[in-house]
Amino acid sequence: MQKSGSAGPVVDGDSRPVIINDRWCKGCDICVSFCPKNVLERPEGGKAQVARVEDCTRCGICEIMCPDLAIQVVPAGDRKEERSGARGGSVHGK
Ligand code: SF4
Ligand code: SF4
Repeated sequence: MQKSGSAGPVVDGDSRPVIINDRWCKGCDICVSFCPKNVLERPEGGKAQVARVEDCTRCGICEIMCPDLAIQVVPAGDRKEERSGARGGSVHGK
């Protein structure tokens, strides 16, 4: 039993399939509701975040549905993690 703790989703190789710009996200829950794979979550009073990255199929529904253009689905093989100030999919309240 020497597994390192797996408290959160980890992606190796390819980077995150979905990037959420938490500066633009207003926490409306639309993406959470429409994601067919239950990849996204939103903590109470917080912003959307990627909770189950390994389940994402990059279907693009969340990007289409977000009224604030706060989600970007990254095509497989593409790496655009650092656009628009998006930071790792987690909420960073001040
Ligand atoms: S749909 Fe867009 S604005 Fe609404 S919670 Fe999702 S990322 Fe945020
Ligand atoms: S791309 Fe599709 S599966 Fe991935 S988070 Fe968005 S809606 Fe869910």
